Amino acid sequence: MAESDRRLFFALWPPAGVAGRLHEAALAAHAACGGRPMRRETLHVTLAFLGAVAATRVAAAEVAAAAVAARPFILELDRLACWKHNRIVWAGCADVAPPLAGLATNLAQALRDAGFVLETRPFAVHATLVRNANCMKPPPPLAAPIRWPVADFALVESHAESAGSRYEVVRRWLFVLD
Ligand code: ATP
Ligand code: MG
Repeated sequence: MAESDRRLFFALWPPAGVAGRLHEAALAAHAACGGRPMRRETLHVTLAFLGAVAATRVAAAEVAAAAVAARPFILELDRLACWKHNRIVWAGCADVAPPLAGLATNLAQALRDAGFVLETRPFAVHATLVRNANCMKPPPPLAAPIRWPVADFALVESHAESAGSRYEVVRRWLFVLD
């Protein structure tokens, strides 16, 4: 990564109430499965990961994002699970709401059309709650689904720091109501 590159990704960034519920779930999962709970201010759902972007290419990513049409929707996070391969406890949903699937697909297409290389794995809705978890024990279930009214998406910069990655929301795109 060149010095002027920025590590960027697109994400859904939760409103305070949703971040609070995710944080509670992270602490409960940490109590059951150990590992390292994510800090409240880091909690998010990644939509598209760009990785290192040259400073001169950031505007192209923003133009691509601005062209993605989407309407507000409710994201209902209703399950916690643990991935054994990377020892991550995450919150997700049994069914991906069509507006969210559409947003992820359209954003990825717009970014590819603009020349960005994205990973080809299918989009998996997840908010990472705990890293380095012991996945032999299932995380405790959510007391109730977390209802997240999604009204925008964000371009986020990841800053590597000794305490772990720090994320900075660079810009947000509000969905249109009709
Ligand atoms: P760290 O790498 O310091 O442990 P992190 O993975 O949270 O922390 P980044 O690597 O900057 O920080 O990743 C930012 C976001 O993008 C995270 O949600 C991460 O899961 C996701 N991400 C990282 N790499 C990829 C990738 N290759 N494909 C898809 N998503 C990714
Ligand atoms: Mg990483």
